[in-house]
This record gives sequence, structure tokens and C-alpha cells, in this order.
Amino acid sequence: MSDAREQTAGVLAEQGEGGAPGRGGANEGGTVRGWHAEGVNGSELRIRFPAGLWLFLAARHRAEELRTGYDGTSSLGHVIQSLGVPLTEVGRLLVDSREVSASYRPFDGDEVRVCAVERPQRLPPGAPRFVLDVHLGSLARRLRLLGVDTAYANDLDDDTLIAQANTERRVLLTQDRGLLGRRALWLGAYVRGSRADEQLADVLSRFAPRLAPWTRCTTCNGEVSPVPKDEVAHLLQPGTRRTYDDFARCPACGHLYWRGAHHRHLQAIVDAATHTVAGLCR
Ligand SMILES: [Zn+2]
Repeated sequence: MSDAREQTAGVLAEQGEGGAPGRGGANEGGTVRGWHAEGVNGSELRIRFPAGLWLFLAARHRAEELRTGYDGTSSLGHVIQSLGVPLTEVGRLLVDSREVSASYRPFDGDEVRVCAVERPQRLPPGAPRFVLDVHLGSLARRLRLLGVDTAYANDLDDDTLIAQANTERRVLLTQDRGLLGRRALWLGAYVRGSRADEQLADVLSRFAPRLAPWTRCTTCNGEVSPVPKDEVAHLLQPGTRRTYDDFARCPACGHLYWRGAHHRHLQAIVDAATHTVAGLCR
């Protein structure tokens, strides 16, 4: 039995090598170059993911090369997504060292290499603008502190987030893989890290946005401007009025800013971010 199978495989393999015209057409069983335990009736793909994408894969798939069954009709992008990896996180796709698109339909035995999206990631012209999902409030405040245009509200549903991202051409940042897989979304990115400082470092290294610290309202994303102390003195507590002279105000929500008790902590965030972005080549 096994002899017969090997012989059959050998014949198919010969046809595959000599049958280049078959590539690009339907997978009709004649393109076998590898023959694995997946069975005579099933197809199999061999896929290499970089270690940086392993966090999306099931534990059993975290290896130099994973092997997965293939239905013969799905696109490579669909196969990758079904393994848990959002296409937003994927860069170049190589099949036998040839670059292909996510719509490519693999052939049995194809050796696929998936690259992570390049960093810094190239975006359409204009400063990167973001919209963050409801779970990333701390990250939103930090990005605004750095002057990065960041839309955020803690009560938006998924459809509204996608609509805002598409309409305002903002990159949707989220840790929800299902959201990133939505076809309607124009551009999104998965945010790595559980703490806000880790998440910020991830976003900065991925997009290398231009920073303009202390220019945005951390409450509403408005652009703040300096305001004379005389104009706001009546709004201040006596201790604040005595201690500080420089103020800025958000014209959108009226929030007042001065370099108060938390300034040193915030300045440390700004300094670290500035250092991170300065070290990235674009
Ligand atoms: Zn504001």
C-alpha cells in the first residue's frame, strides 16, 4: 500500500516539475512537490512565520515551519487569517522566494514565507492619525501628550470605530483581532503590550510619528494654545495661582493646562518617546 502511494506520489511529482503550465490555474492534484501525512485527498501548505508573529498563532503552530491543511481554493490571505494572524500585521508574502499578494491561491506543497509588516510602516501621505478602540484609553492620553492626532472615546461600538477610521483616514489601533479582520476597515494595526508604556513603545516604533509634545489636549485631542494668566486667573485655585505663570487652554473643551505636580512624570514619558522616535530611521 505504501509502495503504491509512493509510486503515485512520484508520478505526480514528476508531472509537477514538468508541468509548469499548471501553475496559475486550478489545483487539480497534479502539482504535488511535497507529499505529507495530510493524505491523498487533502492538500497541505508549509508556512514560515517570523517569531514576531508567533503571538497570534496557536501554541502548536509556533515553530520554524508550520504545516496546515489546505482546501485548494482559499486565498493565501484567508489561510493566514484563519491561523489567527491579522493581515494588518503581515508584510511581504513569498512563495518559493517569489513575492505574491494575499489573494494568491497556493498550490499543494508550496513553501510560503510570511514577513512581518515593516517598521516604520509606510502610510499614505500626511501625518499618521489614529483612532483607538475603547480599551486603549491610557495609550490615547499618552499619544495626545506627544501631540499625535488621536481620536478616542470609551463608548464607541465596532461599527462606529470602523466608520470613523475610514471617514477620517485614521489608523485603527486595537488589540481585537476580530476588528482588524473586518473587510470594511481601510487600515488598522494590532497594539502589542499590556501596559500603556509597552503599547506606546510599540506604536512609536511601528509608525515613527512626528512628535509635538505639549500641544494637544489629553482630554479631547484639541490643539491647545498658550493663554495669558490674567485671562484664566479667576478659574485657578489660590495655590495654583501663586505657584504657576504659564498656562495653555484647549479651545475645544476649555481644559486648562500648566506644568503642575505631575509634570516630571509626564516629561519622562515625553523624553523617552522623543528618544525612541529619534532612533528610528524613516
Ligand atoms: Zn480639550
